[in-house]
Amino acid sequence: TMEFTDRVSRVEPSATLAISALATELEAEGADIVDLSVGEPDFPTPENIVAAGKDAMDAGHTGYTTSAGILELREAIADKLADDGLEHDSDEIIVTPGAKQALYEVVQALVEDGDEVVLLDPAWVSYEAMVKMAGGDLTRVDLSKTDFQLEPALDELAAAVSDETELLVVNSPSNPTGAVYSDAALEGVRDLAVEHDLTVISDEIYKEITYGVEPTSLGTLEGMADRTVTVNGFSKAYSMTGWRLGYFAGPEELIDQAGKLHSHSVSSAVNFVQHAGLEALETEAAVTEMVTAFEERRDLVVDLLAEHDVDVAVPEGAFYMMLPVAEDDQAWCEGAIEDAHVATVPGSAFGTPGYARISYAASEERLEEGIERLAEEGYL
Ligand code: PLP
Repeated sequence: TMEFTDRVSRVEPSATLAISALATELEAEGADIVDLSVGEPDFPTPENIVAAGKDAMDAGHTGYTTSAGILELREAIADKLADDGLEHDSDEIIVTPGAKQALYEVVQALVEDGDEVVLLDPAWVSYEAMVKMAGGDLTRVDLSKTDFQLEPALDELAAAVSDETELLVVNSPSNPTGAVYSDAALEGVRDLAVEHDLTVISDEIYKEITYGVEPTSLGTLEGMADRTVTVNGFSKAYSMTGWRLGYFAGPEELIDQAGKLHSHSVSSAVNFVQHAGLEALETEAAVTEMVTAFEERRDLVVDLLAEHDVDVAVPEGAFYMMLPVAEDDQAWCEGAIEDAHVATVPGSAFGTPGYARISYAASEERLEEGIERLAEEGYL
């Protein structure tokens, strides 16, 4: 028999799996499932990006690249970051197969047994798993009492961090809440980071998907440049989830250390995918179109829920919102899929029981159908 490491036994498979398994089972029995559990845009990758990927393959961009990624792409990313006010040379950027791999490498480079990591709950599911696999201990700050906003919870955050804290993870716009943190909130983070000499990961993967607000990049704040790792990727803004392309930018010493993990694990991101990424960074109209559609859907869902007297914290970014449900959110989600055939993700998967995450990356027709069914079956 095989003996497995503590590292893998400390984590559970993704909590969304139980819901997708139920959905698949019901679909096999012929049920029409309204799937509001998915974490990806429902649009195809824009045509110009697909064409650039094909052209790159035809042009023979099919071999290994430098481990950190092709220079043209790292330079284009550096320009994009500069537009956001972040100064990074191309050698302070590593291109990864998805932002998830970027986060994994950064956590592996910074966290070891007994290190303390602070998360803002509800938090994206993989942060916890990554920290546990690295041997770190989690301290979690609950933002559910403040409509998922950080600014009114800065005192709680201050109480959670200390000189022992190694790392803080900030994700704005947030998955699963859609919250965009105010400049005052980020300044509060900065003050604590400087006071306690913390490293902060700023996961900005939803930065391009916002509704009437311009999120500030944490690394632009005074005192943050040499302690912030900015993570972003192509999955969400350009609807490229399956291409697997992301990156992180940070101080050179971190890039050197994480770069070893990168080169000894994935080698590099896929060559022709990196070329498609170059084209993606030039793409504007298609992104605006998707963001406009998400905003209309957000408004639709918020209005429909209000008609059923359900108030939600209105998201300002990403394509998720947290629906307040029964205390046992796992049972609520299982019931919702069995009775109403609507798939959502339990809030407890993100550290916040009593909620379900709805993704509104679905057509207006399906969103209307889903909410109507939830109401009819007594789930609203
Ligand atoms: N960070 C957050 C907050 C996410 O929601 C996701 C995807 O769901 C990722 C990172 C990883 O995205 P990818 O690996 O597809 O770039």
